[in-house]
Amino acid sequence: MKILIVGSGGREHALAWKCAQSAKVSEVLVAPGNGGTATEPRVRNADVAAEDIQGLIALAKAEKVGLTIIGPEGPLVAGVVDAFFAAGLRCFGPRQLAARLEGSKAFTKEFLKRHGIPTAAYATFTRDNFDESWVRAQRLPIVVKASGLAAGKGVLILDSADEAVAAARSMFDGQFGASGDEVVIEEFLPGEEASFIVMADGKNILAFATSQDHKRLRDADAGPNTGGMGAYSPAPVVDRAMHERIMREVIEPTIRGLAKDGTPYTGFLYAGIMVHPDGTPNVLEYNCRFGDPETQPIMMRLKSDLVELCEAALDKTLDRAHAITGLEAAAKLPGKVFHAGTKRDEGQVLVSGGRVLCAVGLGASVSAAQSQAYALVDTIAWRGMQCRRDIGFRAIAREKSAR
Ligand code: AMP
Repeated sequence: MKILIVGSGGREHALAWKCAQSAKVSEVLVAPGNGGTATEPRVRNADVAAEDIQGLIALAKAEKVGLTIIGPEGPLVAGVVDAFFAAGLRCFGPRQLAARLEGSKAFTKEFLKRHGIPTAAYATFTRDNFDESWVRAQRLPIVVKASGLAAGKGVLILDSADEAVAAARSMFDGQFGASGDEVVIEEFLPGEEASFIVMADGKNILAFATSQDHKRLRDADAGPNTGGMGAYSPAPVVDRAMHERIMREVIEPTIRGLAKDGTPYTGFLYAGIMVHPDGTPNVLEYNCRFGDPETQPIMMRLKSDLVELCEAALDKTLDRAHAITGLEAAAKLPGKVFHAGTKRDEGQVLVSGGRVLCAVGLGASVSAAQSQAYALVDTIAWRGMQCRRDIGFRAIAREKSAR
């Protein structure tokens, strides 16, 4: 199958590189691509701009592309996915109404508030209803955001009410074009930031590894904010408990809320989270696509086949990406695997949550029983599997010291 990646940045290089490794893929086209994608094995650039939706559709048809993955937000917010589907082409990304999560901060803030998802207190203004006295009554610093897309430049953190009022007025005056017709002004949140990126199929969610971007231009977080100078993964601020909180309090209610509102979300979803010192995972922003530069380290770490995941999401079977492998091989070994959080679905055993399996070994000593149990564990795998490697360690320590 041929894949088309739309975009020309580091994110698209990483996505193309990853897709080219899939056994299902014969060739990856990148429109328009860059110097790196041009030299990657099994990858070819196509000279069509990322915003040229009709040109992209013509390219996908001419090249018989089986799946298109959209990198940047511009074409998503402009409705590229709706246009591809209308032309009978498979395209991975949110439809235009769901992409408002990135296209309109005013929409997102109202959505978050309505669904009880934690975020900074705020007000939205247009030139006509701008209330300077509201701004002057707020605590400082204060954050002023152009509601629409502004290439990462439309957010200002200001230390005085005068500056905040001036910033809002210059946004109304067109500093960021139509993106500043609406302005969100919100409370400044302290804490540590993390990028939490998932993919969704309208209902089911699959979380990627966490990451952390470095937005400031210079070392030691000095200098102005940029689109992102570099990133690493995983982000230690998102430990296991925080991961669960973000899923439960942010990501799940967002995907459920969008489905309930009649705009189900299929695609990559990027939550910019500020973890408050009290542990609350506040949403700073949503992006309706993968992050750049976060994609690059995450793709380096991803073991699964990205093309298979995107196809599963388009088929609304992302829950099957949690299928358990190795159970048949384990059944041939001594010992026994008991199930807890599993379910059967079309011949596959899927993870249904919680404690998933319990592998039991039998032996004349705890050490022997432990090795038998872990031999079972080592044949079994699923995405996100976790287990202790030391069950029985106290008894084994005693056995060793008694020898
Ligand atoms: P955004 O595009 O909304 O994520 O904002 C860009 C950057 O501004 C974020 O990554 C944060 O570093 C910072 N920021 C945005 N909103 C706030 C806020 N309410 N409190 C503190 N920092 C913020």
